[in-house]
Amino acid sequence: MKRKTKLIHGGIPSDKTTGAVSFPIYQVSTYKQEDVGVHSGFEYSRTGNPTRHALEELIKDLEGGKRGFAFGSGMAAITAVMMLFDSGDHVILTDDVYGGTYRVMTKVLNRLGIDSTFVDTTDIEQIEAALKPNTKAVYVETPTNPLLKVTDIEAVASWAKTKNLLFMVDNTFNTPYWQNPIDLGADIVLHSATKYIGGHSDVVAGLVVVNDEKLGEDLHFVQNSTGGVLGPQDSWLLIRGIKTLGLRMEAHESNTKKIVEFLKSHPAVEKIYYPGLEDHPQHEIAKKQSGGFGGMVSFDVGSQANADALLKKVKYFTLAESLGAVESLISVPARMTHASIPAERRAELGITDGLVRISVGIEDADDLIDDLKNALS
Ligand SMILES: *Cc1c(COP(=O)(O)O)cnc(C)c1O
Repeated sequence: MKRKTKLIHGGIPSDKTTGAVSFPIYQVSTYKQEDVGVHSGFEYSRTGNPTRHALEELIKDLEGGKRGFAFGSGMAAITAVMMLFDSGDHVILTDDVYGGTYRVMTKVLNRLGIDSTFVDTTDIEQIEAALKPNTKAVYVETPTNPLLKVTDIEAVASWAKTKNLLFMVDNTFNTPYWQNPIDLGADIVLHSATKYIGGHSDVVAGLVVVNDEKLGEDLHFVQNSTGGVLGPQDSWLLIRGIKTLGLRMEAHESNTKKIVEFLKSHPAVEKIYYPGLEDHPQHEIAKKQSGGFGGMVSFDVGSQANADALLKKVKYFTLAESLGAVESLISVPARMTHASIPAERRAELGITDGLVRISVGIEDADDLIDDLKNALS
C-alpha cells in the first residue's frame, strides 16, 4: 500500500459488525462477558476500546511498527514512555525539545529518580559525551521547535544500537506522511497528535508506536496502569483527520515553499530557519530522511518592536500557541512557548526577541504572502 492509500485503508478501516465505512465511536466503558473472563477482547475501556484500538492500529501501520498507543495528550504519551524506565536510569535528549518535554523531565520525572541530559543531538559527538553507565535511552525531536534543527535519525539509531540504548523520536513536526523513524532504526516514535495528525485545532492527543512486541507489552502495562488514555470521540476525530493527512501535508509543503521564497527576498527578514533551504546546516540530512520539509518556518525580524508590529498587522496568521492545523498560526517563541527558558540560554540557542515562528496553514498561498507582505511593510 502506498502512503496516501494507507492513510485511508490502514488500521481497521471499517466496522465488521455493521459494515459502517466510518469506524464507529464506541462510546462505552465496559463490555458484557459471556462467562467469567470470556469476552470479545474488550473488557474495560481503559484497557482497550474499539475506536481507540482502530486508531492505534492505524498509527501502527502508518509508522511501520509493531504496536500503537493513543493517549490523552502528547505529554501523557511522552510521560508513559518515560515510565518504561526505573529510578536511577538516565536519558539523553535533544537540547531544544518541546518545552513540556523539558519540563516533565526536569520538574517531575527527576523527582522519581529519572535523570536527563540535554545536548545538541545534531552533533553525535555531544551525544557520545553525554553517555553514562546508567544511560538507557536517547530521545530526539527532529526537526526541532522553533529553530528547525535536524538530527540524523539513522546515524543516532546505529550508534544507540551499539550501546544497547532505546532510541526514541518525537515525529510531531514531520508526521508519518513525511518521515518514518522506525524504518531508519528508531525503537519508539511519539507524536503530539494535537498538531498535524489531528490537523484541525479541535483535539488534544498523543500517539506512540513501538517496534517490538515486548516493548508493546510493557507500554500497554504502563498505559493501563497509569490510565492516560484517549477517549473514543477524540480517537474518532484523529482517524478522520488522518484520512486527509497526505493532502494537508502536501498543501502545507507547497504553501511553505512559496512563503519561504517570499521571506528570502524581503529586506526586513534577517534570517530564515527552514530545513528546505539549501543553506540550512542539515539540509542534506533532512532531504535524505524526510519526504518533505514541513510547514514550520521561523524567521528573525531583528527586534521585539519589529516582531510586535508584524503581529499587530497580520490578518490570516492567528497569534496562538500550537501548530500543524489547517489555519496559519504565528507566535514569538521568546515570549510564548520558550518564555520559561532563561534569557541567556535563549540567546545561546538563537531564540532572539525578534524571532517569529509561523505554522503555515492550507489557505491560498497568495493571501498568506499578501498578509505577510502587508504586515512586514
Ligand atoms: C505540542 C507538542 C508536544 C506536546 O503535546 P501535547 O499534545 O500538547 O501534550 C510534544 N512534542 C512536540 C514536538 C509538540 O509540538
